[in-house]
Amino acid sequence: MTERKTITATDAVHAGDDKFKPYDSVPTPIVQTATYTFADSAEVAAYTSGKHSNPDRGEYVRYGNPTVRAVELRLAALEGTEDAAMFASGMAAVTTTLFALVKGGQHIVLFQDCYRRTLQFVKEVFTRFGVTHTLLPAGDVAALPDALRPETRLVVSESPTNPYLSCIDLERVAAACRARRTVKSMIDATLATPVNCRPAGFGIDLVVHSATKYLAGHNDVMAGVVCGSTGLVSIVRDLRGILGGMCDPHAAFLVGRGLKTLALRVEKQNATALAVAGWLERHPRIERVFYPGLSSHATHPVARAQMRGFGGVVSFIVKGGLTAASAAVDAMKLARIAVSFGGVETLIEQPAIMSYYEMTTEQRQAIGIADGLIRLSVGVEDPGDIIADLERGLS
Ligand SMILES: *Cc1c(COP(=O)(O)O)cnc(C)c1O
Repeated sequence: MTERKTITATDAVHAGDDKFKPYDSVPTPIVQTATYTFADSAEVAAYTSGKHSNPDRGEYVRYGNPTVRAVELRLAALEGTEDAAMFASGMAAVTTTLFALVKGGQHIVLFQDCYRRTLQFVKEVFTRFGVTHTLLPAGDVAALPDALRPETRLVVSESPTNPYLSCIDLERVAAACRARRTVKSMIDATLATPVNCRPAGFGIDLVVHSATKYLAGHNDVMAGVVCGSTGLVSIVRDLRGILGGMCDPHAAFLVGRGLKTLALRVEKQNATALAVAGWLERHPRIERVFYPGLSSHATHPVARAQMRGFGGVVSFIVKGGLTAASAAVDAMKLARIAVSFGGVETLIEQPAIMSYYEMTTEQRQAIGIADGLIRLSVGVEDPGDIIADLERGLS
């Protein structure tokens, strides 16, 4: 079993870096090419028969690229898995993995609070291919064993979830899946990062990330990754070559560069978000704060047991609903209004008017999105400046 231990700053800089060195440069070079030449037909034959001395040299970029490969090996090292495959986006990683592992007539289990596009894919696209699903109430791991059927192939969850940051008991999810030989577990660990939690260490089979968020960390690139055993990842990688959601070499370079400072950034964001969450909880204009590092959070015991830090996202409800929340956000200057999270810049958004804008208040309430809800992604600015900005917004 992989170690549960989360990564250190040294790991973030060096882990997996020695596995694949296309050149002697310190950073991974960007091999910006669409295809690769062979010296002669003998080399072609060596490559296609799997006997080439450098199997990662590449044949055509949709199947592989040295920059992408180097970053994949680093990501696998950071997640403590045998292998990893990178994608053009987090959603390309999620959908390709689901298509690779599940077919018509089979069944998957998800939790109500999973990433909304993943849920939408399963509800609207996967059903067209005859894949059935069961949606469990958020965090209801106790209901998992009974939800598994003979045709169940995959259980999907996030930890922490978005925007309420609920943490799921990974060991229980993994144990329930492993009790049925045919069921694999997949955790979207975008909000956790290997600095705070490594799901594979708890027995989870596949770990996916939107690398667009913390892994890259600078709000400047889109990418995704799935990490797992050699066998599972190779099935997913083969389908990537067909569906075409391959990561671009330049995007992979930016993710790889972001990884170097992952621990520095996330440790700072953990500390700032914890301070911000505690400050908000004491503020008279705040109705409720959701942060897994606070003892008031419903999943705090689970979070404390399996996470080193609690992440850089804090969600909170402002008293006075939509208007009051908008007024607070509008009065803030440092926090920029934007969806997404995990970058060096502090971003703020109101789920009711951004991610869930097309719904009515009643529809939003039905899925638990309060009108006064604000999601704050703390950046790496000075914590005092972020709190001063919140004070400006709330006063
Ligand atoms: C953003 C996000 C995704 C999708 O990733 P993209 O890179 O935007 O495609 C998936 N899961 C979670 C938890 C996310 O936050």
